[in-house]
Amino acid sequence: MADVTDTFPITKISKSRIGEVDFTKLEFGKHIADHMVLAEYKNGAWGTAEIIPYGELKMSPATLALHYGQAVFEGMKAFRNKDGNISVFRIQKHYERFTKSLERMCMPIVPEEMFINGLKSLIEVDQAWVSDVEGASLYIRPHAFASESKLGLKISEQYKFVIMTGPVGPYFNKPFRVKVEDEFVRTAEGGTGFTKCAGNYGGAFYPTMLARQQGYDQVLWTDHKEHKYIDEAGMMNVLFVMNGKIVTPALNTALLAGVTRGSILTLAKDMGYEVEERKVSVDEMEEGLKEKTLTEAFGVGTAAVVAPITEFGIHGMDYSLPVPDVNSFQQKVKKKLIAIRRGHEPDVHGWNDIITLS
Ligand SMILES: *Cc1c(COP(=O)(O)O)cnc(C)c1O
Repeated sequence: MADVTDTFPITKISKSRIGEVDFTKLEFGKHIADHMVLAEYKNGAWGTAEIIPYGELKMSPATLALHYGQAVFEGMKAFRNKDGNISVFRIQKHYERFTKSLERMCMPIVPEEMFINGLKSLIEVDQAWVSDVEGASLYIRPHAFASESKLGLKISEQYKFVIMTGPVGPYFNKPFRVKVEDEFVRTAEGGTGFTKCAGNYGGAFYPTMLARQQGYDQVLWTDHKEHKYIDEAGMMNVLFVMNGKIVTPALNTALLAGVTRGSILTLAKDMGYEVEERKVSVDEMEEGLKEKTLTEAFGVGTAAVVAPITEFGIHGMDYSLPVPDVNSFQQKVKKKLIAIRRGHEPDVHGWNDIITLS
């Protein structure tokens, strides 16, 4: 196989910062690895992507992304598997979603080769940052933003594409408390909810802060028209176990199509569960909590994998679920997903992209 790094100019850092990292005590997002991918778009085309030492970018205060929000990102992970190789989970899926986000934000598509080979080369260069410590992984953050400097409101004609990475530890799955949101919305159908665009997150902070002041951890977002149907939990998709079936809100333009969500639904079917993707109303959820036919609720996403929800605030009433044990669906499916990513279970769906290390 050709060495993917052949195609990317690489400037290596003079002294690695890896000595500063304690891989047994990783805090999400604290450390950024030695190198990054950087490419620039201008005059209607992407220039060559380069791998350079991670560092600051010089920008004008009139950089369009800062004012008009053309900025999108992805989040994925690389793992050190049991035979010492490094694999990245479902690069293609993340690339497809990145492309959808770019299109919706009227930004130029990043060529597939630049995204995938750039990412693989970067991880090869920074392979020492992919720890084999139990539960550790390398979080990968590709992103693009409008970099043209101009005060007027316009579609940018210049963009930057960056990939940076950072080591992360096992996410401590503390059960979390959600508040059903019946005043604010994260997004609306027809809006940008299905993209990972920067603005979606800026707009979510304030309602989340209010929910925290009321003693919750996250908001359970509901539809924009009636606040009647459940969309997502914070920055995660939400799944339920109801009457022994795996139930999750069906995707629409207000929901982010999580790669973890899709993977877990596939594994649920493999495990013999019935899966329903459909509208889930707040009333149905409340009824299920009262009748105890709703036995599990959890958020799913790349960062946490699975995060149990044990407390619900619904229109001023509080409900709770027991903390899930090892026999719960969420714990079993999480274990299975982790085992596949680490190479302890066969990767029958072809989700692991193995990086060739030289
Ligand atoms: C990223 C994200 C998710 C989870 O997606 P994964 O691909 O599983 O990481 C869910 N909801 C929102 C709003 C997100 O930004």
